[in-house]
Amino acid sequence: MALLPFDDRDGFIWFDGKLVPWRDAKLHVLSHGLHYGSCVFEGERAYGGEIFKCTEHSRRFKTSAELLDFEIPYSVEELDAAKRAVVKANGKPDCYVRPVAWRGSEMMAVAAQNATIHVAIASWEWPSMFDAAVRMKGIRLDIAEFRRPDPQTAPCRSKAAGLYMICTISKHKAERKGYADALMLDWQGRVAECTGANVFFTRDGALHTPIADCFLDGITRRTVIDLAKKRGMEVQERRIMPDELPSFNECFICGTGAEVTPVAEIGPHRFTPGNISRTLIEDYAAAVRPHA
Ligand code: PMP
Repeated sequence: MALLPFDDRDGFIWFDGKLVPWRDAKLHVLSHGLHYGSCVFEGERAYGGEIFKCTEHSRRFKTSAELLDFEIPYSVEELDAAKRAVVKANGKPDCYVRPVAWRGSEMMAVAAQNATIHVAIASWEWPSMFDAAVRMKGIRLDIAEFRRPDPQTAPCRSKAAGLYMICTISKHKAERKGYADALMLDWQGRVAECTGANVFFTRDGALHTPIADCFLDGITRRTVIDLAKKRGMEVQERRIMPDELPSFNECFICGTGAEVTPVAEIGPHRFTPGNISRTLIEDYAAAVRPHA
């Protein structure tokens, strides 16, 4: 499949306050964000032109930067308006939206208090990863060697670019072995999340999901918890050790990109995608398109 590189496309990117032609949205190689990982981002989806949970994502974006000791120089309202302007300018009402903020070039050492904070927002078409029928077969997950870091060793509530280093390595390893993704444990060996999505399990009609205290508390995760509670399902957020995996019936991952995607295997363990996953896939699809 021929890849369309992300730096050579048509369209518009919002860059430091204004919409610029896609190919002009460039940064210098001597940027603190690139060398020292002082960079945070968001991943959002627009459905029918409406960005799902737009303001929640803008708030998380600001918080992610604060956790890296910098401030995004735009308000939540300004970010919301900028994202909507990008989606409109690119003319694709169903798309993925990617805000990113990074420290610039004024200082090139560990300390960079005076570096300018840059912000860019792009959007592009990214259809649902699986159609409903394929999705219900469930994906296969490896178990990653890297663990989510101890909250005392990293700003783990930030959607910081640097925290994805171990995700990319883990996902590459999983894909080389023929898996779709990898389940990561946390620093204490408990079930945590996937490389870009949160994870849920079911047993006796109840949902079980790890407490998000050392990994990203996904906006989709919280949406799924709300949807399940609306259905009257019990939701348990708790510590889950890998030795519990054989006791669960269904498993699914969820995130802005993955939406709700059932899992058929995690390493040696098997799950059977079923009614709870199907119900939550449907409820999530209805929630993201309230006007459909
Ligand atoms: N965990 C990680 C590591 C992620 O990259 C994502 C995707 N942003 C999620 C969880 C799910 O977050 P959300 O539902 O907010 O997209």
